[in-house]
Amino acid sequence: MSDQLEEIKRRIDIVQFISQYVPLKKAGRNFKALCPFHSEKTPSFIVSPERQIWHCFGACNEGGDVFKFLMKIENIDFGEALRYLAKLTGVKITSYQPTEAERNRQLLYEINHLAAEFYHFLLLNHPAGKVALNYILGRGIIRDSLEKFQLGYAPNMWDGLQRFLVGKKGYKLEDLEKAGLVIPGSRFQASGSRYYDRFRHRLMFPLRDHRGNICGFAGRVLEPNAKEAKYVNTPETIVYHKSDLLYGLFENKEEIKKVDRVILVEGELDAISSWQVGIKNVVAIKGSALTSRQVQLLSRFTKNLVFALDSDAAGNQAAWRGAQVAEEWGMEMRVVEIKGGKDPDEVAQKNPDLWKKLVNEAVPLYDYFINSAFLQFRGETGEEKRKIGQILIPVLAKITDQIVQSHYIQVLAKRLGVEEEAIAAEIKKFVSRQTLSPVFVSEKRRDFRTRQEVLEEYLLALGFQSGEWKWLVKRRVLKLVKTLRFLKILEILREYLKKYKNINSRKLAKMIPPELEETFNRLYLLDLEPILKDEARVKEEFQRTLLEMEKIYLKEELKNLAREIERLESKEEEGELLEKLSNKFRDLGARLAELNKKE
Ligand SMILES: [Zn+2]
Repeated sequence: MSDQLEEIKRRIDIVQFISQYVPLKKAGRNFKALCPFHSEKTPSFIVSPERQIWHCFGACNEGGDVFKFLMKIENIDFGEALRYLAKLTGVKITSYQPTEAERNRQLLYEINHLAAEFYHFLLLNHPAGKVALNYILGRGIIRDSLEKFQLGYAPNMWDGLQRFLVGKKGYKLEDLEKAGLVIPGSRFQASGSRYYDRFRHRLMFPLRDHRGNICGFAGRVLEPNAKEAKYVNTPETIVYHKSDLLYGLFENKEEIKKVDRVILVEGELDAISSWQVGIKNVVAIKGSALTSRQVQLLSRFTKNLVFALDSDAAGNQAAWRGAQVAEEWGMEMRVVEIKGGKDPDEVAQKNPDLWKKLVNEAVPLYDYFINSAFLQFRGETGEEKRKIGQILIPVLAKITDQIVQSHYIQVLAKRLGVEEEAIAAEIKKFVSRQTLSPVFVSEKRRDFRTRQEVLEEYLLALGFQSGEWKWLVKRRVLKLVKTLRFLKILEILREYLKKYKNINSRKLAKMIPPELEETFNRLYLLDLEPILKDEARVKEEFQRTLLEMEKIYLKEELKNLAREIERLESKEEEGELLEKLSNKFRDLGARLAELNKKE
């Protein structure tokens, strides 16, 4: 098994592989990019072709090999990553045992998949589905769309799905419950089952993740005046997480890549209606808040977002919250102003050409916000101007690109007929109030390391990356490194140098135990450009770091000695020891003074 893993890694070039997801730029011996796992403005995501590993030195502070990368970016478990990479490289996997969690997920996908086929069959081919079919065709959804998105019909029965999945296919009711398809209950005993179907007499939309797995369902009522909820969705399960899902992404991702733009709508029918009139680069966000995970996922396909949310206050709010998230990921944003219908579904159905036109005429997000503020207030009196400012200052303050921000300050100043400086000052005021908020104070600190640890890591990185491994096993270094994990690595390095003459980082990596891998990898990925280009500089940095470490060491020793001397003095005895310690204190003090002079 581990041979097979090695073989897969040997056949994949990690730089090429990761490049499919993130644009990598060469930086000395390594490659750099904006981390795909957290939002950032300066690249802290490093890939080493030499070691075939990656690491994020930013908020994530983690890394690993190509398996770990794939698992993280696709949000899949090891077994899935293994199957995928084995297929990609043509390596046969013989002995992999999936974990229980993996088996459970696969089981739920399987159950959902069969449920979707069952519902789909009923809608298209069964008399029981006739009402639903007439309804959906009557709403203008064409057969192509029904098939493409695999729409279905959940029969008007308490146990319709159970009869199929349990009775015919032999699945367990408990597993159907885990998939969110049935609900335990005692009142519905007609069939003797302890459960009843969650979805009954509803039009069914299978919800797929971007890899095509069916994670859950949305069920829509058929009668427009029904008393029940308009939509019933699968609850959160081990495979369905509402805030991760983008409806239509699996079906439309190629189109989104091709057009390099994605249109965000609210509901399933908005997405389908748009798709069938030819605007296929569309996804539905299901629930109106766009989450960071969704933006992260979309950013792999395009950086251009077009909001086409319902044209009411709620839609506006949703666009704004989504925009804040997307801004952090550096997305370009536009807004479609919905006209000629209440939502994209209605517009696309009634007037396909209008829908295309509206999409093409989407305005840049901040123009849209300015326009809508001026629709609320005319901006003629001082009071109206203040109100418009109150709406727009927080919006403009969030723009991270200075040039773009400055542009909109100009636009707003002109429309309000005030000085640009006044608006800039208000934005500054707003930002300073924001930075005082406790949200920022409680922000997760990522670096709890002491100065000593930081220096040690830097020292080791310099030694390893420059290939001057022998520097690292000198007595002075071994005396000054205090952190256990670094000491262990140096111990292994000593062993290596006893055995081998040549410097081979892969060979050395094989000797590193798994619990030290992460630490060791970081040493190789720490960004040392441009120091590394200059041999003299490397040596200089190495000495300078050692010097600082020695100073810390001396200060620490002096503190300890002082404490010990004080203790002995208070006892008024052990004169010999006291004198010895006092001499040592003097020597170390002199050495520290000497080192301080060196700088
Ligand atoms: Zn990161």
